[in-house]
Amino acid sequence: MDVAPDDAMVKIAHARTVIDQVEAAIARIEQGTYGKCESCGQDIDEAMLDVDPLAQGCMCHQAAGQA
Ligand SMILES: [Zn+2]
Repeated sequence: MDVAPDDAMVKIAHARTVIDQVEAAIARIEQGTYGKCESCGQDIDEAMLDVDPLAQGCMCHQAAGQA
């Protein structure tokens, strides 16, 4: 086996973060707030959602909100 257990843990932790983001996006869809910035409530650019459907913030707030 060429993957060290530590590497696997890092990958699993990352996968869990992605799952959290997917669940948060689904929750926003259910609440009708999907596509709106969590910080300022402004509509997130459609092109940005194309690139990152899990984006939680607009151009101004995306970087700050990212883990
Ligand atoms: Zn914003």
